[in-house]
Amino acid sequence: MTHRAAPQTGILGGGLAGLTVASRLDGASEVLEADARPGGHLRSVREEGFTFDAGGPHIIFSRNAETLAFMLSLLGENVHRGRRANKIFFKGRYVKYPFENGLYDLDPQDRFECLYHYIENHHPAPTNFREWIYHTFGTGLAEKYLLPYNEKIWKVPAAEMSLDWVEGRVPKPPLEDVVKAAVGVTTEGYLHQLDFYYPATGGIEALAMAMAERVRAITPGFAVRHVRRARDGWTVSDGLRERTYARLVSTLPIVEMAEIFEDVPQEVKDSVAALRFNSLFTVTLGLAGRRLPEYTAIYVPDPGLPFHRLSLPGRFSPGNVPEGRSLIQAEITANSGDGVWELDDSEVLRKVVSGLESMDLAHSGDICYTKVCRAKYGYVVQDFNYRRHLETAKNYFQSLGVALCGRNAEFEYINMDQCIERGFRVASELIRGAKA
Ligand SMILES: Cc1cc2nc3c(=O)[nH]c(=O)nc-3n(C[C@H](O)[C@H](O)[C@H](O)COP(=O)(O)OP(=O)(O)OC[C@H]3O[C@@H](n4cnc5c(N)ncnc54)[C@H](O)[C@@H]3O)c2cc1C
Repeated sequence: MTHRAAPQTGILGGGLAGLTVASRLDGASEVLEADARPGGHLRSVREEGFTFDAGGPHIIFSRNAETLAFMLSLLGENVHRGRRANKIFFKGRYVKYPFENGLYDLDPQDRFECLYHYIENHHPAPTNFREWIYHTFGTGLAEKYLLPYNEKIWKVPAAEMSLDWVEGRVPKPPLEDVVKAAVGVTTEGYLHQLDFYYPATGGIEALAMAMAERVRAITPGFAVRHVRRARDGWTVSDGLRERTYARLVSTLPIVEMAEIFEDVPQEVKDSVAALRFNSLFTVTLGLAGRRLPEYTAIYVPDPGLPFHRLSLPGRFSPGNVPEGRSLIQAEITANSGDGVWELDDSEVLRKVVSGLESMDLAHSGDICYTKVCRAKYGYVVQDFNYRRHLETAKNYFQSLGVALCGRNAEFEYINMDQCIERGFRVASELIRGAKA
């Protein structure tokens, strides 16, 4: 064991949240990151002239203009601005996204059913996500797109999901827009991400790297395995090295913190064990000699196709793809033990290629590059017990004085902009606490 004096604040995990906190604490902190380089879920792959994001495609957008401006300022000149051109693959057609703004692309019977039930909607006030979909969108939109898509990505029946995450994330479209969409007048939904940004070069990791440049002390290759109380704070160990800090910020998955921290009560461990999440495959194919449609992403509700979403990184930034080639990424959610997560990479790849062939988006002969990436922590699943269990776990760590920050530590469905906002908030609280 080697011992050495460390800065006042230890930050566990060097993803965007941990880097953001550290960037505000100046030299008074150290980031401990398990991986060989920081960035966490924002890591990008750069191989054979292709650039893409390993943990699912990431675009930069925010409802908060100040946060968006800050993210863009981190990138300086290295920014490409894009315009969303998403589609939904439905009954062999490409329907404009979001679906309720693309009704004119449907055949007349489907168009009628969506519009009629949107207007003639007597579904009662909802108590779960399934009822909320019917209540908000009507039977047509619910059954043709929203239920199959959501059940595919979440991997649980929508009736088992709570409502608390929906508000603000899935907006209710105005009646005027739905009627216009049905008769063929162009409308747009989800306006906060209609225009988006992406690093011109380097993939989304460029954003994490720009944040990392503002951090003085990052120790890569330090996988935190034990955390225990010390006389003057906390001792953190990777099994070989030890650090002692007065204060701790954790951005580690809360489900792992329960094992890493010493003496966690059984009640807290039980709550943490009951928290559900989905893991994610991101399967990327480089294609030679094939032009892909000019879309940014394609949502795929069809349960017969293995992926829920396809993305075209060449549309995020032209710098992602060499001349004469194209890139397509497929995302598949899975859970440990469901048989899908256990598939080996070649089987997952085979399923994706077969799905793309059936959509006529790729054929084996076009493929010049492949990569299968896995992310254990993809999406938090908000079932009915989620709030109660999360509160038990969070209250416990907060009672120890450990600040939780980020998507997996706070166990919330939050994007990069919110990670940054929360990172700044945690840093301000630490600075205020140190002065008090
Ligand atoms: C499929 C998908 C698509 C997304 N798309 C977008 C998008 O388009 N736009 C957007 O704004 N956001 C998007 N997000 C959200 C975004 O990825 C997250 O909000 C953000 O990356 C979370 O950062 P974080 O620092 O909280 O967590 P992480 O990035 O997970 O960072 C945690 C860090 O802790 C490290 N770590 C873990 N265990 C240990 C240990 N024991 N010891 C030391 N270090 C450890 C990890 O290696 C990692 O670096 C998407 C997320 C997903 C899953």
